[in-house]
Amino acid sequence: MLFMKSTFIQTKQTLRPRITVAGSSATNMVIRAHHHPVPGGMVMGDQFFTTPGGKGANQAVTAARLGAAVTFLSRIGNDLFGRQAIQQLMEEGINTDFILSDQRLASGVAFVTVDADARSSMTIAPGANSAFSPEELLPAAAQIGQSDYLLLQMDIPEETVLQAAKIAAGRHVPVMLDPAPAYACSEELLQYVTVFTPNRAAASQLSGIAVTSMESAVEAAEIICRKGVKAVVMTLGEQGALALHGDQLHVIPPVPVEAVDTTAAGDVFNAALAVALAEQKNLREAAVFAAKAAAIAVTRWGAQAAAPYRREMEKKIF
Ligand code: ATP
Repeated sequence: MLFMKSTFIQTKQTLRPRITVAGSSATNMVIRAHHHPVPGGMVMGDQFFTTPGGKGANQAVTAARLGAAVTFLSRIGNDLFGRQAIQQLMEEGINTDFILSDQRLASGVAFVTVDADARSSMTIAPGANSAFSPEELLPAAAQIGQSDYLLLQMDIPEETVLQAAKIAAGRHVPVMLDPAPAYACSEELLQYVTVFTPNRAAASQLSGIAVTSMESAVEAAEIICRKGVKAVVMTLGEQGALALHGDQLHVIPPVPVEAVDTTAAGDVFNAALAVALAEQKNLREAAVFAAKAAAIAVTRWGAQAAAPYRREMEKKIF
């Protein structure tokens, strides 16, 4: 199968996919407010809370909650936030053996505002995430090679993302890349990507087509596919998603829910998509599964805190 390692069926792990995530960890400081501040402006919020985040860590936690055996590769500061982050990852049953401790830089931090329409905006101080170097992945090469999927995002240095993708591709491990924050990935990197998962902003940036409708989303996905990725699964926020592989196009309808906080919706979507593909669901089925997981997440506050557990995926949610 295109989206699977050919050895997968022969392993004893068929019931528990093995997912490796290389990416960021951060502590989110969240304020709920009626609307977002404009430049130079100030808004009064109501509640404040601190919650674990970072795109990589969000995806790792989601994959673990959905039943995967997860290894997380990251660089985290030797400080209170960093120690808390590692403790939380361990409590989720995630393998943290390859997490590097940065003695100089602080752990990643994000200031998040969530408005009355559940939309989040974020300012990130990447700290140790920005020092995660390509060489530091080498001790984890064998671990990556034993995975059913490698998940990557763009909030660690691009050369490190590229190195991880090369290690995986060289070992026939499929790579899922979420090009977030919206970022024009190099053509070289795209050659190693099996499933590419841009949101509307990233798809617009990469294709040169403003994604404002389903038609423009399909057009953008076709352009991106021609850049070398095997499949595109584009997330469209409250509009759902679309999946394009060759000439097969699947429109994934949104799951109607009452959203309160859309922070990490894309991360939950990505991790669920990878888990489902690793369990040999086809691309459409996997995207439907991912949309349901993300819909559950947007009904709850927080990033990792909002990620659904596998048992919740069996229930009807609307
Ligand atoms: P983030 O950066 O916050 O992680 P994103 O911009 O990468 O998010 P989106 O496209 O906003 O990702 O959302 C990802 C997926 O989450 C969508 O494809 C959809 O399945 C689901 N989703 C997002 N918002 C809603 C909503 N309001 N109702 C239902 N599902 C939603």
